[in-house]
Amino acid sequence: MLFVVSTPIGNLKDITLRALETLKSVDLVAAEDTRHSGILLKHYQIDKPLTSYHSYNRIKKAEELLVLLKQGKSVALISDSGTPGISDPGSYLIRLSIDNGIAVSFIPGPTALIAALVLSGLPTQRFSYEGFLPVKQGRRISRLKELAGEERTVIIYESCHRLLKLLSEVFSVMGDVEIACARELTKQFEEVRRGKVKEILEYFKNKKPRGEFVIVVGPQK
Ligand code: SAM
Repeated sequence: MLFVVSTPIGNLKDITLRALETLKSVDLVAAEDTRHSGILLKHYQIDKPLTSYHSYNRIKKAEELLVLLKQGKSVALISDSGTPGISDPGSYLIRLSIDNGIAVSFIPGPTALIAALVLSGLPTQRFSYEGFLPVKQGRRISRLKELAGEERTVIIYESCHRLLKLLSEVFSVMGDVEIACARELTKQFEEVRRGKVKEILEYFKNKKPRGEFVIVVGPQK
């Protein structure tokens, strides 16, 4: 069986009892960064073999994991943070396992998109999760143009290095829309800035963006 296990997005205490039980019971844990996940396992005194499964080796590694799963071994899939399969390599192994008749079980837990959406205070009834926008300028702007005028709340992941660029692109394509910028959720420097994009842009021009960010754009109609 493949167990897809959500792990914390920052605060190590944000892990469920079932996640801990599962991690203790499996034969192998597949993690993006084994050093990073090793800290989590060590914190909970879980001594399990860890193998790296990240975006660069996912095709080859998923085949190797599939062999083990077919032999009846149990594997827990975790990511660097949050829910595997959400903007990380997890979905490839999940699909491969499903296609090969392997039972897949999900142990729910944190994900940054839901934390940011809820804290944004923006409407939650209908939302569109966009993950990371394309890096290439042309594709990035056309994606933003597709999202201009969107009736649903839009959720975007972005690195701190590109935050100012993203906010100015949002302003130029969508206008001065209502947004929330959620950073370092569940961590010591958690911060949520809410307001018009221009105002938030000015704020982060004066305060260098650091850490992990989710940008939530309110409905534009
Ligand atoms: N699988 C993860 C999830 O369930 O949210 C997402 C992994 S993705 C590679 C990493 C991105 O998630 C970061 O660049 C950031 O946009 C967002 N993120 C993860 N943890 C966060 C946190 N504590 N605060 C804000 N954003 C976070």
